[in-house]
Amino acid sequence: MNNLEDQAKIDNATAQQVAQSDMAAASAAMDGVAAAALRSVLQRVQQAAERAGRGSQHIRVVAVSKTKPVSVIRQVYDAGHRCFGENYVQEIVEKAPQLPEDIEWHFIGNLQSNKAKPLLAGVPNLAMVESVDDEKIANHLNRAVGNLGRKRLKVLIQVNTSGEESKSGVEPSACVELAKHVNQNCPNLEFCGLMTIGMLDYSSTPENFKTLTNCRSEVCKALGIPEEQCELSMGMSNDFEQAIEMGSTNVRIGSTIFGPREYQKK
Ligand SMILES: *Cc1c(COP(=O)(O)O)cnc(C)c1O
Repeated sequence: MNNLEDQAKIDNATAQQVAQSDMAAASAAMDGVAAAALRSVLQRVQQAAERAGRGSQHIRVVAVSKTKPVSVIRQVYDAGHRCFGENYVQEIVEKAPQLPEDIEWHFIGNLQSNKAKPLLAGVPNLAMVESVDDEKIANHLNRAVGNLGRKRLKVLIQVNTSGEESKSGVEPSACVELAKHVNQNCPNLEFCGLMTIGMLDYSSTPENFKTLTNCRSEVCKALGIPEEQCELSMGMSNDFEQAIEMGSTNVRIGSTIFGPREYQKK
């Protein structure tokens, strides 16, 4: 009787151990999945660049880690990646200090003026803000960089190329004016190019990319800078190869590297 009870306890304990080690293996495999997905993405980037007769060293891959835990970002970092993107201020200021300082963070989300300073103060290794879409936010960023005594901040101007009213971004017809403003009135910002998010259903992808390319021509003419000095941030998980073939210098890839997003219940 005792024996049987003991055996039952042991079986039970063993079952728990197996379950735990299964979970550990599953989570290790998950992390391995992100690193493997990164490698596959980098390979596809290289192939798309080759098809377009471009060098893949001119194409930056921003691994968009929004909603993903620090542990998984760390795995992708350990696989050798250094450039990550986030779109909520609260989330990036929480994660960045828990991760290595040589990460280049890109802020890619809608930015409210009162969040410019907390973003810059909380993320000393912020490399770029890709989502400047009006003079007010440019001015706030410019002032915050000055007040914090940071080095110049690289920025992209976000252009609404899909015509959807809900989307952030300046109208294509207004991008020259905003680029001029940043260039002439924001000495602490370095204008580096243009960014766009196309239609989320990807229904007008080539037109969106074409529109952004046209914006670049106009901006470069107006500012008197060569097109090679004006980046195009376009292309996400489902269209980055096409974006690269159309001249993208910066692709923002989330779910293809990290899997579907994990929104927490609040
Ligand atoms: C989330 C996000 C991405 C990544 O989207 P995926 O389709 O998961 O690759 C790219 N750009 C911006 C601005 C985003 O917010």
